[in-house]
Amino acid sequence: MLITASSLNTYTQCPRRYEYSYIKEKVPAAPQAALLVGTAVHIGIEAFWNKLDIHTSLHNVWEFFKESEFWDREAGELERFRIRAYITGYYAHRQHMLGQYEVVAVEHEWTKVIDGMDFAGKIDLVLRDKQGRLILVDHKTSGSSDVDNPGSTFWRGLSYDTQMILYREALSEIAESSGAPALVYDVVRKTKSKPAQRKRIAKKKSETTFEYEARKLANTETPKEYAAKILNTYTTDDTRYIWREIPITQDEATNKTEEILHIGRQMSADHVVYPRFQNSCVSRWGACPYFDVCCGTDSLESGSFKSRPAHVELPNQGEKNGK
Ligand code: SF4
Repeated sequence: MLITASSLNTYTQCPRRYEYSYIKEKVPAAPQAALLVGTAVHIGIEAFWNKLDIHTSLHNVWEFFKESEFWDREAGELERFRIRAYITGYYAHRQHMLGQYEVVAVEHEWTKVIDGMDFAGKIDLVLRDKQGRLILVDHKTSGSSDVDNPGSTFWRGLSYDTQMILYREALSEIAESSGAPALVYDVVRKTKSKPAQRKRIAKKKSETTFEYEARKLANTETPKEYAAKILNTYTTDDTRYIWREIPITQDEATNKTEEILHIGRQMSADHVVYPRFQNSCVSRWGACPYFDVCCGTDSLESGSFKSRPAHVELPNQGEKNGK
């Protein structure tokens, strides 16, 4: 049985959710927009660190777009424009880093046996600075205002983040570091903007609501104008891209590793039942996708869910994948 940061986090969030996702291998059938956008940006950034040009990078992302009908919808079309802006801006603002660092590994799958358990994951990027120190980089996209504030819970909580600690453990399997490795979050701040009005207009007394709405529609930026505007924003504004080292002390890494092993042993043990953690059913992102199943009004066998092998993001793990 493989244990990843994602499966650990799912288990601690709610054991029943872990059972549905990793043991029964059922996931929501409907495309999840945030996940698709994050994956598309990842593909573009991966190409950058593989030293492919921007055209190849956008082509790779375009190929990914073909896999889901989401991108043909109105919301998907706007996301495509935004993603092109995110990636083009990334190329503009990160270009100088290629001269500062040696690229050691990109999208590197790792496994490590710790305390008799198989841990695995995929590290986005490993760099080496001129002093020989390894830098582990995790790419993120975020639309949260928390990322702008270094003192926010988002940043402070990363000092004991499961994924970061596990990846730190895995680094020793990849390459030697001169000194303690650094852990960096590389964040692309997403925009929630939409096509705006070209000029301010107000309803005239002489027009009906229908006429006013039609005039507003005619005054709205076209998708092409919107795409050009955000492309300009992301290629000229480097504050849209955050590169921040996460401070983790050796004591904290040791403590957190013990916690991870403790949870890993619980996950590996035989379960009579995977309990439902009711306090996790609703979060700031909405209801858990399995909410109706837990309420008894839907079933994992319905069209709302599809089968997907556990740890599908780690294709090289072969027969170790899954339960
Ligand atoms: S709905 Fe609640 S109890 Fe059910 S899997 Fe999701 S978090 Fe767990």
